[in-house]
Amino acid sequence: MPANTLNASAAPSKLNLIGLEQQALAEFFEGLGEKSYRARQIMGWLYRRGVVKFQDMTDISLRVRRQLDLVATLDLPRVIRKEESSDGTRKWLLDVGSGQAVESVFIPEPNRNTLCISSQAGCVLDCSFCATGQQGFNRNLSAAEILGQVMIVKRDMGPDVALSNIVFMGMGEPLANYRNVVPVAKLLVDDHAFGLSRRRVTISTAGLVPQLTRLGEDCNVALAVSLHAPNDSLRDELVPINKRHPIKELLDACWCYAEQLASRQVTFEYVMLRDVNDSPEHARQLIKLLRDRPAKVNLIPFNPFPGARYECSTASVITDFCERLRSSGIVATIRRTRGDDIAAACGQLAGQVRDRTRVRLGDKTFRSVRL
Ligand code: SAH
Repeated sequence: MPANTLNASAAPSKLNLIGLEQQALAEFFEGLGEKSYRARQIMGWLYRRGVVKFQDMTDISLRVRRQLDLVATLDLPRVIRKEESSDGTRKWLLDVGSGQAVESVFIPEPNRNTLCISSQAGCVLDCSFCATGQQGFNRNLSAAEILGQVMIVKRDMGPDVALSNIVFMGMGEPLANYRNVVPVAKLLVDDHAFGLSRRRVTISTAGLVPQLTRLGEDCNVALAVSLHAPNDSLRDELVPINKRHPIKELLDACWCYAEQLASRQVTFEYVMLRDVNDSPEHARQLIKLLRDRPAKVNLIPFNPFPGARYECSTASVITDFCERLRSSGIVATIRRTRGDDIAAACGQLAGQVRDRTRVRLGDKTFRSVRL
């Protein structure tokens, strides 16, 4: 069962039912001496209808609703602030207790609406070009705190706005919080809960290979991998987890994952850093790694943040890099920057910190990033 009681507002003795998978919910009801079908009933209320009060779940008897109030909660993170970008992108800052806040970003597009959710308060991976990493790590979010982001945004956007795609591309490394992320991903694709297609739920990872291999067996949603460099010496610098799981090991795991996905490709994210990883030679090395593989590449223009030590590649360099990939037969796209005026673009999510450095490895000085 995922650690669901971390939300500070929940009484410690009560179990927060948000984020529990059907099986865990069924066991909970059996423990109360109730029928296990109540699990599906509750899931319908919570995730399909957005009802988060036991009293309002009218097809459950009053007696059971009262009992639920005594032993369980339906706690969502508290919204601290909402911001809207001039391009329609919206950002929620959510309180997850102990002075920690995380962010979720809603990105409307003509044919889809994507919600980008966070899985950790901070991140331990320390990728050199990412604002979240610079903030240090505080803790894993509970399943309720992760799924709560989807519920809050769905509620706030109202019934006329459908969330068609969910991406685990906010703060944190989702596979480092495997035990809470996987139940959430399962609920997102569960027909009794959110019922999204597996192709529309994407987990993005910097390359935690053992968890990636497990994920293929547990819940094969769409996969994005933050590659960012075409050789180990450069990747060691940009994405330090590469020292533990170098490119070959990572790509082998990706090809296995793709096989389980049947006809689906792995997306490789590649942040465009001026004069760092954007030369024709880098493109050539990348082509060598990915050509004739079930891979597509998403080039991400680097989004700056206070204190960043990189610049974004020029538009013409990005286009040229993309064309080189395409002319070798690799499907490549350039990610359009969204929400940068409210610091909601990729890698700009810093949340709000009191002190994440306490649990940071090393002794980098704490720096507060203003939103
Ligand atoms: N930990 C996961 C999710 C991170 S965020 C992962 O590494 O995949 C999603 C994407 O944004 C990742 O590809 C990440 O590398 C990228 N990113 C981080 N900082 C960025 C920045 N400043 N500009 C552009 N993309 C960035």
